[in-house]
This record gives sequence, structure tokens and C-alpha cells, in this order.
Amino acid sequence: MTKAISPRARKVRILATLGPASSSPEMIAKLYEAGADAFRINMSHGDQKSKIAVIEAIRALEKKYRRPSTILADLQGPKLRVGKFADGKVELKTGSTFILDRSKEPGDATRVELPHREIFAAIEAGARLLLDDGKLVLRVTSHDADVIVTEVVVGGMLSNNKGLNVPDVVVPMAALTAKDRSDLAFACEQGVDWIALSFVQRPEDLAEARKLIEGRAALLAKIEKPSAIDRLEEIVEMCDGVMVARGDLGVELPPESVPPLQKRIIEVSRRLGRPVVVATQMLESMITSPSPTRAEVSDVATAIYDGADAIMLSAESAAGAWPTESVAMMDAIGVAVERDPSHGDRIHFTVIRSDPTTADAIAEAAKTIATTVSAAAIICFTLSGSTARRVARERPGVPVMVLTPKPETARRSGLLWGAYPIHTKDVASFEEMVAKSKRMALRHGLAAAGDRVIIIGGVPFGTPGSTNVLHVVRIVGDELKGYAS
Ligand code: PGA
Ligand code: MN
Repeated sequence: MTKAISPRARKVRILATLGPASSSPEMIAKLYEAGADAFRINMSHGDQKSKIAVIEAIRALEKKYRRPSTILADLQGPKLRVGKFADGKVELKTGSTFILDRSKEPGDATRVELPHREIFAAIEAGARLLLDDGKLVLRVTSHDADVIVTEVVVGGMLSNNKGLNVPDVVVPMAALTAKDRSDLAFACEQGVDWIALSFVQRPEDLAEARKLIEGRAALLAKIEKPSAIDRLEEIVEMCDGVMVARGDLGVELPPESVPPLQKRIIEVSRRLGRPVVVATQMLESMITSPSPTRAEVSDVATAIYDGADAIMLSAESAAGAWPTESVAMMDAIGVAVERDPSHGDRIHFTVIRSDPTTADAIAEAAKTIATTVSAAAIICFTLSGSTARRVARERPGVPVMVLTPKPETARRSGLLWGAYPIHTKDVASFEEMVAKSKRMALRHGLAAAGDRVIIIGGVPFGTPGSTNVLHVVRIVGDELKGYAS
């Protein structure tokens, strides 16, 4: 059964995390209809087997709606966690002493296992240990090869396997744990479109993942470590996409440093033409409430005004009570912000200079012409998706229809600002390119009779990296005649 869904009335994309609240085929379809453009599978939770059905359900959308789907598998990375407690949880009192050690014995209010040998070697007296997203704070008073003695600076409840951040020292952890390697292999076998790497510290971390992926997926770097900020440009150059991972970033660094960093990470990503996702706590209160706080709405709007390609839902869509409402809320915010006449000026506050290449000159010209002649869409023929990324990077005021013969290019483009990917047969001539553009624009509702569209492609056809043609045409309206749709 095919169900047509009209193009989104916004260019910012919505990336929805799937989880217990949203893994059924029915819920995934509901989230899609509410506005989710891409889906995130969090490898931190659940086993690989349980992900297979979820991936199948996302791909089933392609048949149902005749649109490419986009899947991002998020690897847990070297996330530090404490061990388990005899009673499942304990209360740490402010001012008390608490020990982290290497004994596997279940913990109590005086001690718990810390199953990461690297920390014992790297830790220093005076360093802070942050537990459970920074809710609890410990300060190291002394340490040796097997024991770290701390003073509880901010107490509270601590339960099994809670996360631990060590912002004051660089822990020499491998970027990919054994679990990550296994999850990466699994995700590639399942044919996901994007793989996200957590806690990236150095560009080399990405090189390692890239080698293992062997071109089977695009690679996204999650920026959530101070050391990644130190080498931000190099890291962004090494990846295909970026996430402002505000959850861990705001634990590793003071929360007030996150908004300026969000702006900087978005700017660098946009400048280098990598799609950038803003993530975490965007509509946090909607985990339990059907409506968000005004501050959350404003935060989502800010990410859109900053020019992010995509905004992400985490627990709101994965484990909350209102997954569909959360997507619908993001959709509504996206539409409202992009309708604001000042939106265009605000996103172009970030000046994006073109590289001295033909492709960039054409991408820039397409944006300018689209505005000058009030075109309805830019239509871009691409094999690798690179032309689409360069056009999206210009943040044109109109949708970018991405026509590609490669299904993986269509799927990966789902995270790009304003992109409307279509998997279709390649064209062999200029006339065919023009005819197909008009037909597709009409059929998908991106243009109507009388509209102008801008077509960009490369001659000779079928050669990657050959973008060298820009053509402006007016759609008459009879282009669909003779074609069954
Ligand atoms: P996570 O990443 O949800 O996997 O921790 C996002 C973040 O840290 O913001
Ligand atoms: Mn994180």
C-alpha cells in the first residue's frame, strides 16, 4: 500500500531516536508521518538482535511511502560507567568518603567497582569525578593503582552502571571499544546509512572507524569531549557529519559553555559542508508531559536559527510518554521559525565562503538565482551526494531535490538541510535531465505549473564530480502527460 506524504513544510530535518516507546512498525510510521525525517538507533541500549526488526520497520517505510529512509546507528563509544551495587542503588552523603576500586564485589555506600583500568593510571588528586550526568560530584583525595579515594562534594542517589565523566584529566581510552567494533560490524551488515562515533577525542579516532566501515556508511562525529573542541576543524574535516552532543558536552564542560560551543560547532560544520545535528534535552520535559516548556521551544528554535541541518529527539521519542507529540512539536517549531521573515537573514549571519571549485560556484549561483527568479526548487543530479551537500551548505531558500541512481546516496541525504532525496534511474542526455526534473518536481509536489526550477548536474552524465551545468526552466504543467505515476 502506498501512502503519499507531502514534502515537509520546513527545511530543518528531524532525527528521532527509537527505543522502547517507539520500536513497533506502527509507531515508527506514526513518527514518520508526524515529521521524523531520519531515525537514530542507540547501540548503548538493548542487544543487536532487537535492532534487526527496528531496521526492517524503518526500511518498510520506503515501500509504504515511496521515499528513501535514513538510519543512523549511534555507537556507545568509551562511555565510563561504575559497577553494580548490592542493593541496586545507594545514597552518597555530601561530605562523606567514597571509594572506587577494582574489586568486582557489589558496591555499598562506601565503595563501588570502577571497571576501567585506564582511569586509575590517569587520575590525579583534586580531579573531579562526575556521576550520572554530573548530578553527583566526587573529588579525588588520594589514589593508587587499584583504589581511588574521593570526597563526596555533591551527594545524591547512585544506581547500577551509572555514567561517569572525568573532565579534568585526559583518559587514554581507545575510541572504539570491543562492543563498538562488534556494533559497527553489525550496523554495516544491516546496511545503516550513518554511523555515529561517541566521545571522539582526536581525528585519528575517526580514521580508525572509517577504515572499519569500508565505505558502507557515512561517518558522524559526536562532539562531546573538551579534547574534540581543541581540534574541532580537523575532526570536522575527517567526518561526513557532526553532532553537537550537548548531554555529555555539558557535563565535561560547564553548561554555560554549551551555547557558544553549539554556535561554533554549527559554524565550522557549515563552513566545511558537513551536516550538523543539535542533540539532547531539546524537548526534555516532553518525556513526561504532552507539552514542552517555553524555554525548550526557544532552544529548538535557536538551533534552527543557528542554521543546524537537523534537530534530534533522544528519550523524548525513545522512551517517553509522548513520542509522536514530541516530533509534531519539533515540526511545528521548524515551520514557525522558517516562516519568520528574519529566518533567512539570521541563518546567513554565518558567512559561508565557496571553495574555488566549479561545483561550489554552481551551488552558490543556484542559491542566488533561486532567490532572484523566485524558483520553486533546486534540482540536483548527484552520484555521491557531494553536489547535494554543497547546495545544502548554501542554505538556499527553496527545497533541494536530490536525484540519484544510488540508493545509499538518497538515504544518506536524509540528514541534509532542505534535501528531498529521490532514488531514480540515471539520465543519459540533457533533454532527459530536464524532462525528468520537471516530471519529478510536479509528481512530488515541489513545483506547480508556471513555476521555475533550477537544475544542476554534470556532463558527461554518470561521472562523479562533474557538476558543471546549471539550467533554469519553467514548468508548463503537461509534463506528466503520458507518464503513469
Ligand atoms: P548520548 O549522546 O545520548 O549517546 O549520550 C548525546 C549527548 O551526549 O548529548
Ligand atoms: Mn553522549
